[in-house]
Amino acid sequence: TELYEKGLAKTNQGFGARLNAFFAKFRSVDEDFFDDLEELLIESDVGYETAEELTEQLRDEAKLQNAKSRDDLKRVIVQKLVDLYDQNGNEDDEKLIYHAEEHPNIYLFVGVNGAGKTTTIGKLAKRFNDQGKKVILAAADTFRAGAVEQLVEWGRRVGVTVVTGAEKADPASVVYDATKKAIEEQADYLLVDTAGRLQNKKNLMMELEKIERTIQKLAPNEPTETLLVLDGSTGQNALLQAKDFDKTTKLTGLVLTKIDGSSKGGVVLAIRNEMKLPVKLVGLGEKPEDLADFDAANYAIGLFR
Ligand code: GDP
Repeated sequence: TELYEKGLAKTNQGFGARLNAFFAKFRSVDEDFFDDLEELLIESDVGYETAEELTEQLRDEAKLQNAKSRDDLKRVIVQKLVDLYDQNGNEDDEKLIYHAEEHPNIYLFVGVNGAGKTTTIGKLAKRFNDQGKKVILAAADTFRAGAVEQLVEWGRRVGVTVVTGAEKADPASVVYDATKKAIEEQADYLLVDTAGRLQNKKNLMMELEKIERTIQKLAPNEPTETLLVLDGSTGQNALLQAKDFDKTTKLTGLVLTKIDGSSKGGVVLAIRNEMKLPVKLVGLGEKPEDLADFDAANYAIGLFR
């Protein structure tokens, strides 16, 4: 939680800072108040539809609760932000899934280049390894120069095995080898890195489908999680990417990275409201420990610090 707050303190420079500045100028609850709030939400990448919906609900709720003071309104907003998040799912689907009786639990990471896939896998490998779980990594991003070495380096740092192929190898063949090894060695987790070239969307989607089929040849119930990694600092662009990937890949959740940076932060709400996909993890920096489970309440409260 401490780490989470530290990361969010920086997010506050974006969404949170705007909210705080807005409330510093607070005079009274009138129509201007809600108009200005809606504008602020849109500017913070909450998205037009979600901003409108949220403002409408806040207006009703403020009336219902007879909220008049600054603190009343903050309370109503925090509550509504959490509601907005929760109404689109339940608490259980927010956690990473782990089947204790099944080996391995395969997590597939997808997303465009630079989103933070390799880094997130490295951080998660550390987390699971620290929990005493056996983890294997698959370097199936054979497209981006340096991606394999980057994952191998994470493996060395954390102390887990990384399965690699020859240069420019077929990603599916790397995944095949890795899945076989993970089954043979009774690994708890197999984390699969994939290529994120956006230039050739059709090929990428075909490649992801092939990887999935390859996994299912050996492990019919996998992957347990297919996580789309999004760069949180790209705002509404992240939402567009999510919609694109969601069309062709059966996603189970999202990872929002770089929310320690200049992220406007509001995009979390837009994605939740429009896609009904849970944010399962957030990236808060580049170090191995800079990864946290997303928590809607902490997020909403954190915005007002
Ligand atoms: P990939 O192409 O999707 O595998 O992306 P990478 O994992 O290589 O990450 C791209 C860049 O973003 C690297 O320089 C990472 O160190 C950086 N990065 C990844 N996650 C985070 C994060 O949560 N916070 C910050 N500040 N940087 C991150």
